Amino acid sequence: MANRGLCPGCGKRVLHVNVENVVGLIDGESRARCIAYTCIHCNVVLSIMLDPRAKPRPRRASTTAAAAK
Ligand SMILES: [Zn+2]
Repeated sequence: MANRGLCPGCGKRVLHVNVENVVGLIDGESRARCIAYTCIHCNVVLSIMLDPRAKPRPRRASTTAAAAK
């Protein structure tokens, strides 16, 4: 099965993507780790999603860290 998805930036087929770390802002604070998929040819951002590998890192550790375990 051939990949048929085309990059909206350069029109080439999307066979590879760069994966880049992006910080998501929630209410203006950098609290969500995200990853961006960008075209390897023209660097257009194809998609951004929450990083499923990221663990929540609360700034105020006392509020949630104790209850997590
Ligand atoms: Zn492209």
